[in-house]
Amino acid sequence: MCSGRVDLAFVLRAFLNGMDGVIIGGCRLNECNYVTHGNYHALAMVLLCKKIIEFIGFNPDRLGIEFLSSSEGIHFAEIMNTFSARIKKLGPLGKSEGIDEAELKSKITSVARLVPYIKMVMKEKLSTRIASKEEYETLFAREEIDSLFRDVVSYYIDPDKCQACMICSKKCPVEAISGGKNLIHIIDQEKCIKCGTCFEACPPRFGAIRKLSGEPVPPPVPEEKRTVARKAKEKAA
Ligand code: SF4
Ligand code: SF4
Repeated sequence: MCSGRVDLAFVLRAFLNGMDGVIIGGCRLNECNYVTHGNYHALAMVLLCKKIIEFIGFNPDRLGIEFLSSSEGIHFAEIMNTFSARIKKLGPLGKSEGIDEAELKSKITSVARLVPYIKMVMKEKLSTRIASKEEYETLFAREEIDSLFRDVVSYYIDPDKCQACMICSKKCPVEAISGGKNLIHIIDQEKCIKCGTCFEACPPRFGAIRKLSGEPVPPPVPEEKRTVARKAKEKAA
């Protein structure tokens, strides 16, 4: 597959499934046959992922990307030998980092859940096409990664404003919103992938969905109080 199709989620899944190292091979930069230049996207994604795995305590050398053409068999073999020697030297994932298996899985799972959010926050940089590989090295700064996880957002439906129009629940890609006719809608924070679709979809006249950052999400409205209180004007109509 095109290296541009390799998603951040695929890389994290490989680590979660026990891989000690992941390397991605793409066509040479500026030699893509398509206007999309997916290999630049792959490069940006790998550099972001390296910073993320470093943030959660893994050695970023466990992830690599190389660019070469299909005629470079010997070069390919050299790359793979060098990479596998590097990973052997690092040892099993987690062991050399001093992280036990349960913590390792928990850390990767937490980050994997945020992939849609990370891609949305970083979308401009992820689609950047800079002239050289070297210039990409400074694309993502450590402070940026710190704030990415520190200021992670949550979405919350204000029970006083929700009019149960059901638009948000129909648009949520992971069925994280429960609701129904005349029922105040609720977001399941465990299922929510923070894509922001509901926030955009809630009609401005209701403006019921709040985007929270750096503050706890209020508890969901109790079941017995979920019936929508219609405004007097609407009742009369
Ligand atoms: S942000 Fe909204 S639409 Fe997106 S997953 Fe969460 S609840 Fe669903
Ligand atoms: S779109 Fe807004 S008003 Fe409609 S059900 Fe969702 S939160 Fe409530």
